[in-house]
Amino acid sequence: MRRHLQWSIKQLTSRYADGQLSPRRVAEQALEDAVNLKTLNAFVRLTPEEARQQALESEQRYQKKQPNSSLDGVTIAIKDNFCTKNVHTTCASRMLQDFVPPYDATVCSRLRQAGAVLLGKTNMDQFAMGAGTVDSIYGPTKNIWSEDLTENNWRIAGGSSGGSASAVAAGLCFAGIGSDTGGSTRNPASYCGVVGLKPTYGLVSRHGLIPLVNSMDVPGIFARSVSDCVEILNAVSGPDGKDSTTIRQPFTKLQLPEVDAIDLGVVRIGIPKEYHCNGLSAEVLETWTKVADLLECAGASVQKVSLPNTAASIFVYSILNQCEVASNMARYDGIEYGHRASDERSTEQLYAQSRAEGFNNVVKTRILTGNFLLLRKNYDHYFEKALRVRRLIAEDFAKVFETSSKEDRVDILLTPTTLTEAPLYSDFSSLSNRDQCAVQDFCTQPANMAGIPAVSIPIRLSKAGLPLSLQLMSRSLNEQLLLSVARWIEAQVAFDSLDHRLEQKLSL
Ligand code: GLN
Repeated sequence: MRRHLQWSIKQLTSRYADGQLSPRRVAEQALEDAVNLKTLNAFVRLTPEEARQQALESEQRYQKKQPNSSLDGVTIAIKDNFCTKNVHTTCASRMLQDFVPPYDATVCSRLRQAGAVLLGKTNMDQFAMGAGTVDSIYGPTKNIWSEDLTENNWRIAGGSSGGSASAVAAGLCFAGIGSDTGGSTRNPASYCGVVGLKPTYGLVSRHGLIPLVNSMDVPGIFARSVSDCVEILNAVSGPDGKDSTTIRQPFTKLQLPEVDAIDLGVVRIGIPKEYHCNGLSAEVLETWTKVADLLECAGASVQKVSLPNTAASIFVYSILNQCEVASNMARYDGIEYGHRASDERSTEQLYAQSRAEGFNNVVKTRILTGNFLLLRKNYDHYFEKALRVRRLIAEDFAKVFETSSKEDRVDILLTPTTLTEAPLYSDFSSLSNRDQCAVQDFCTQPANMAGIPAVSIPIRLSKAGLPLSLQLMSRSLNEQLLLSVARWIEAQVAFDSLDHRLEQKLSL
């Protein structure tokens, strides 16, 4: 394992600053490793020329002792649904296979301004619809923690941002950008044993993120530690004139306290009983209980709370998701946007054929269902009703975080991220996308419905040697406390995201 991979972003950039290591060497090594680890299928496209140029410029800035930021020279991978100027952005779909955006998503332009080195684009489920990174025109992404990567019984990386999670877990980059609409950052983070943050809705600009569900989409962050995650969050957050849904108030950079200075005595932790649900594995339950005990022993108040509408959430999410998908996907007609079929018999025929060829069955099913749910005769019964229940779900969170009496209020909710360790590809892919998501999104999508921040952190390994993770949630814009508590837990459990012995498995 390359020694610099064990370092935090802070340690890395301080070595850049004192000349012990060069951004060019780190970028070069990452590009070489990414090619050697092709079997993971984390990247769908490397951009070596751009990366080398960015690393060279970074090195020159360090030589002049003028780095752009604390991220200067740090290698980052970008999910393939974020627009990157002059670099293909496909959403892992045939529909956008030839799309080369003329502009950068705000997240990408802010990272570039910070001096980061963007290595390339990562794999995902088509248009981010999925929870396994198995439905991609580039084939599935593998989980590096799999007992065996070469046989047919490897584990999924989770999804839909599995490529970025896999790249960070494999040490191909220091951080990754994903998107999170119902769990797509936290789910693969959980399975790949890395930190995955879904920030408060509107804290990070969606400009240039190809939309799935506009009212829930948030750029997500992967890193191997909570403090690395904060470094990225600080670089990409804040108002953006190009996205009217960004929070207007100026963003104050987070500065987490040192672990010893985190006072859990003033923190109230809630354990929502509805997350103790069908399908929760004994190992995840045990992990959840142990961490709750750990927090309590350290002085936090830990209490059971109720979020009564949790069970309805997955259905409401599915209705709203499909309705927004039906409208978002309308733009891909083969004329203005997207893949164009060769059938030119009529405009209607061209639309139909282009969409039939461009979308996979998952996308088509969601468009058809969404349009059905939005028919005038169904609108009130499904869409309107789902919006009303969405409000109840958000109110459940508001109650436990803000409006209950002081004794019943909590600051942080602690839950599983996923119900089990990473499933085998063979088991997972035998289910329909709908059944996959119903299980995978159970613990994650409520946070998207409420817009609140949530983070997944790896805790320990299962008996099979796979990461088990937990999720923390807090009220909107409370990332400072959320990530401080995450950092405290991280320090206690001392999970090593790079302990997957990948090199041995691949005999590198
Ligand atoms: N699994 C969910 C879905 O398919 C979440 C996807 C996401 O967060 N992008 O809709």
